[in-house]
Amino acid sequence: MASEDPVRQRSGMSKQIIVIGAGIIGASIAWHLTRAGAEVTVIADSAAGGVATPNSFAWINASWGNPETYFRLRTRAMTEWTRLAQDLPGLPLAWCGGLCWDLPEAELETYATEHSAWGYGIERVDGAGAARIEPNLAALPDFALYVPGEGVAEPVAATEALLADAERHGARVLAGTVVTALTQTDGSVVGVDTSAGLIAAEEVVIAAGVGSPDIAATAGVKLPIETPPGLIVHSRPYEKLLNGLVLAERLHMRQTAEGRIIAGSDFGGADPGMDAEATARELFAATKAMLRGADGLELDFHTVGYRPTPIDGFPIIGRAEGVDGLYVAVMHSGITLAPAVGLFVTREILDGDRDALLAPYGLSRFT
Ligand SMILES: Cc1cc2nc3c(=O)[nH]c(=O)nc-3n(C[C@H](O)[C@H](O)[C@H](O)COP(=O)(O)OP(=O)(O)OC[C@H]3O[C@@H](n4cnc5c(N)ncnc54)[C@H](O)[C@@H]3O)c2cc1C
Repeated sequence: MASEDPVRQRSGMSKQIIVIGAGIIGASIAWHLTRAGAEVTVIADSAAGGVATPNSFAWINASWGNPETYFRLRTRAMTEWTRLAQDLPGLPLAWCGGLCWDLPEAELETYATEHSAWGYGIERVDGAGAARIEPNLAALPDFALYVPGEGVAEPVAATEALLADAERHGARVLAGTVVTALTQTDGSVVGVDTSAGLIAAEEVVIAAGVGSPDIAATAGVKLPIETPPGLIVHSRPYEKLLNGLVLAERLHMRQTAEGRIIAGSDFGGADPGMDAEATARELFAATKAMLRGADGLELDFHTVGYRPTPIDGFPIIGRAEGVDGLYVAVMHSGITLAPAVGLFVTREILDGDRDALLAPYGLSRFT
């Protein structure tokens, strides 16, 4: 369902805004700001697509393990993905459903009871039900939970599509450009210093993933984030074996739009350990053993991504107190959250309206 209150086009408004970062978060913020009439420059030292983003499992969900406040932000983000896909046809988004049994049965039951009461569409299934959803699973759970409303956005293609559309609507994208410092006048950020020289703006948004703390530090702002690694294996493209997301104990997998089976030991990837090659081979063997009809499935490559994770696990989205003209958006679960973050950041920067769902996620909670 489309959101009731999409980004409004503002007449005559052309606030100059720099967005640092061309991953899914920077791309979504840039897209929403541009569509709302701002004059946006995206600066990134990567190509369009980002750094953590290409290494993501890219499961869009509001699954177990989070308090209700965060659940509400995540489910809102899921709704905003549908709105975004309507506004940007061709966005690689699939509501393919998630089949989950990565908890002991009693904990699965607690998750189902709690999240059902919160309105998450969860179905309880037995082995036969799981086989109907995923006929090619070699080992079936006795009990699992199925969430038809969970999905996937192919992360690089979605990011590229957002940036390309933002450019079509007037944004500038400076890829391969390093931001070395924020520039300030009288305590306000007035632009950035880059490998291509100084660039001025009325507002700077740091959406630079694991690169964010170093940039923020140049204005004296501390961002408490950790960067845990996550390893994902990618098969060569293969005939269709999976319909949706499979979230089994110690093995999360899905099949990408181009037919690759990708897997981690959970959605955040496997710990690469001392020997990432060996970890990848073991994980791929376990993945193959989980699938019927996978005899010809071959490991193509593995990725190790570093997840930009604030130390309490929740996003940092908001202005840096005491430094005018600076906004920060750094988070894990950025694939899930991107459309809501883009929308809410745009409203806060251009209209001064901070969405109530963002209340717990200001930077000031760490001070
Ligand atoms: C293994 C793994 C699995 C994951 N699984 C999921 C999942 O299932 N679901 C989910 O929702 N999320 C998942 N995530 C998290 C999600 O991928 C990230 O939260 C998201 O990609 C972050 O996007 P970003 O745009 O903030 O960062 P990035 O994609 O890292 O982009 C950062 C951008 O900032 C730029 N930058 C940094 N420093 C500078 C600088 N000094 N100058 C110029 N540019 C700079 C980079 O070049 C890049 O363009 C996973 C992540 C990993 C690694």
